[in-house]
Order: sequence, then structure tokens, then C-alpha cells
Amino acid sequence: MTGARAAFLDRDGVLNEGVPDPETGLLESPLHPDEVRLLPGVGEALARLADAGFVLVGVSNQPAVAKGKVSLEELIATQERVLELLAAEGVNFATFKLCLHHPEGIVPELSGSCECRKPAPGMLLEAAAELALDLGSSWMIGDTDGDVGAGRNAGTKTVLVEYPGSAHKRGRAEDPDLRAADLPAAVAAIVNG
Ligand SMILES: [Mg+2]
Ligand SMILES: [Zn+2]
Repeated sequence: MTGARAAFLDRDGVLNEGVPDPETGLLESPLHPDEVRLLPGVGEALARLADAGFVLVGVSNQPAVAKGKVSLEELIATQERVLELLAAEGVNFATFKLCLHHPEGIVPELSGSCECRKPAPGMLLEAAAELALDLGSSWMIGDTDGDVGAGRNAGTKTVLVEYPGSAHKRGRAEDPDLRAADLPAAVAAIVNG
């Protein structure tokens, strides 16, 4: 018997807007709850995925604590704000995993290599084991090469969401199965495909 199919979703640039880094001007993760803004149509798109029988699983690299940019409490409060805004639109994730590590972090216990930082497949494999998911009929939806790589490494199909603010994190990956301008377009392609 095969397991359920899942939609593995990256967070920043897929569910919510990025926030400009004060030093580089490039869009990075929101680091405070009041910076969280859902992208247009996200609640409706996730509800459509759930209606089509996909288990919703979040998988996000969040290295800001490891880099010393924010406290763990603030990072968790920011994540809770994302979930709260989605819940207000009637969307609930089966599980939402965060990798807190970074290879060159400054907080020793969160620094160095790990098996969960995308493109490693650790978060997807862990969720698949916990929730009896069938990876081959599942999709990874993300806006960076790391997301496509994580899906490939876990054995899912992949959609690259071409969020304008994260163009600097795309370009070197193997081709994804699909490309889409945003989450609603990605979901339309998956559900209609
Ligand atoms: Mg992202
Ligand atoms: Zn990790």
C-alpha cells in the first residue's frame, strides 16, 4: 500500500514575502512577527492543494539564529505568525519543519553540517516517515535551487516558483519538473496536471 501524497512547501518567497536585508538589500527571511506578509492568493492555493488530497508539509531553512542575527524566541514567534495568518485563512499544515543550522554559523550548537538543511532531504524524509507519505507522488514547491535539490534528493517531483525577490538564489539547479510565477500558478499546474 502506498502512502499519502504530500505537498512539501518552502516558506519564504512561496508563502510569505521576503524582507530586504539592511546590509545587502537582497530579500531574506522576515525575522520578526510584524514583518510577516502572506503573498497574494496563498490561503486559497493551499486550500486547493488540501482539497486535492495533498498533505501540507512545510520545510524551511531558517539559519538566522545560527548566524547570530536574531534570537530563537523571535524566530519561533515569526514562524508562529506565519502559521497564525494561514490558520486565519483556514489552512493548517500537518507538520512544519525548520532547519536551524548553518555551515558557517557563529552559534556552535547550530553550526556545521546537518542532514536537514536543503538541498539535503532530511526534513522531507523525516516528515514522510512520520506521516506515511509517498514521496514519488509528492511535490516539492520552492523558490530556490536548494528547494529543487531537496525535492530531487528526496525523490519528489519539483516546482520552482520564480519569486522575483529570490532570483539570486536560482539558476544553478537541475531543471525542475515545472516552473511557475507564484504559488497559485504552481498549484494550478499540479492540480490540473
Ligand atoms: Mg524560499
Ligand atoms: Zn539542519
